[in-house]
Amino acid sequence: MANQTVDIVKNSLKALIEDKSFLPELNGEGRKKAFTSLLSILSTPDHVNKSYLRIALENGQVVRVPSFRVQHNNVLGPYKGGIRFHESVNEDEVVNLAALMTLKNALHEVPFGGGKGGVVINPREYSERDLYVICKKYVQYFSDILGPDKDIPAPDVGTGEREMDWMMAEYKSIRPGESYRGSFTGKSVINGGSLGRREATGKGVYYTFRYLLYDFMRTQEKWLTDRNNIFAKTALSLKDKSLKLAVQGFGNVGSVAALSAYQCNHLNNKVVAVSDRNVTLYNSDGLDIPGLVSFVANNKGDLPTSEEQLLDADIKATILSREEILTLEVDVLFLAALENQVHQENMKEIQAKIIVEGANAPVTTDADRYLSEKGIIIIPDILANAGGVIVSYLEWLQGRETQFYSEEQVFKKQFEKMKHTFDSVYPQFFGDDFPLRANCYIHAVMKLSTILYRQGKLY
Ligand code: GLU
Repeated sequence: MANQTVDIVKNSLKALIEDKSFLPELNGEGRKKAFTSLLSILSTPDHVNKSYLRIALENGQVVRVPSFRVQHNNVLGPYKGGIRFHESVNEDEVVNLAALMTLKNALHEVPFGGGKGGVVINPREYSERDLYVICKKYVQYFSDILGPDKDIPAPDVGTGEREMDWMMAEYKSIRPGESYRGSFTGKSVINGGSLGRREATGKGVYYTFRYLLYDFMRTQEKWLTDRNNIFAKTALSLKDKSLKLAVQGFGNVGSVAALSAYQCNHLNNKVVAVSDRNVTLYNSDGLDIPGLVSFVANNKGDLPTSEEQLLDADIKATILSREEILTLEVDVLFLAALENQVHQENMKEIQAKIIVEGANAPVTTDADRYLSEKGIIIIPDILANAGGVIVSYLEWLQGRETQFYSEEQVFKKQFEKMKHTFDSVYPQFFGDDFPLRANCYIHAVMKLSTILYRQGKLY
């Protein structure tokens, strides 16, 4: 497990060691030993699989593409997590993301372990046929370790339904006669995917923010008087205000979160800024999010970058540089792009009072500490962005049962789960002065360790 997650797990364990309700079967000495085993289990992945895919490109060139499948831990069920296509993919990153999947699934009681895949390419630089070949090769190289009861990939940055459909088809042809429907999730609906899967992460991100909003409206004054809690102070400063929202990243997660905010129009909250790899668009009266969603759908996934394009699409906005999204004067910042976006160099310029992590690990450990000490409320990745894997689980179940849930049923099941998790980590947040991230980790680690202990693995 790369540094960031290890550090947070270590800190969560420190908090647990004092807690008598944690592994109550053990005495002080036994508990210390269990902690050491636990840390070594969680800080190292079970397997790091790496291959150089050999690809004959459409243009005649033959390239070797580094690719990974990391299987972090499967104590809760088959390894599970997306496959990322991005030029910055590297082994440490995939290991860290796989570890986050273990914790995310444990936190939300999804019966899967943690895994992650990555291919070091910029998918925009390849033709559709080349991407198809890359997907097929990926499955050929890793087919022995994948499968509905072993390791189940899904989309991540740079991949989507199309790639999952190709990969499942390849898996099926490599293993004829075996069950294949649950081998990949995030497939297109016609190909055995689930209704609601495409929107699940973005919607979950927005609704988790809404849960926080509702709850702190009710409880903040109590925490403020009881404990002089800094987070409650922040919450109070936002009470009954119409909030300004900014969304970094306008892909599958960011665009859906922005659209949900726009459609809910809660207390007149407005999405005043969105960004992508090229630009930030800003309008203090609120952006036309449906207009931008349809623009992006017809423009290879990119937001408008010129006055001319804005005019053509009838969208009113000021064009700023892509980094400016992070430091605008807004109340809430949704981070739905990549990891390490808020770091030591820019953390002091953040003006938002609430940060919602739609991406995995978008705030570095240093920045997390600094911002939390200032009372900025951070809704962590493993809490906010679990909608995708929760609906992946529903897709996997539907594949087994060979029956399909309506969109309404999927939505209901997803949000029952997410609200249940939120309620179990939230009260301690304002009550105990722990940042929400630490509470989530403590919950996840607590679940993992109880199971590991019962399975006799903590000696
Ligand atoms: N890539 C998504 C995540 O990071 C979804 C994983 C899945 O559905 O397995 O949570």
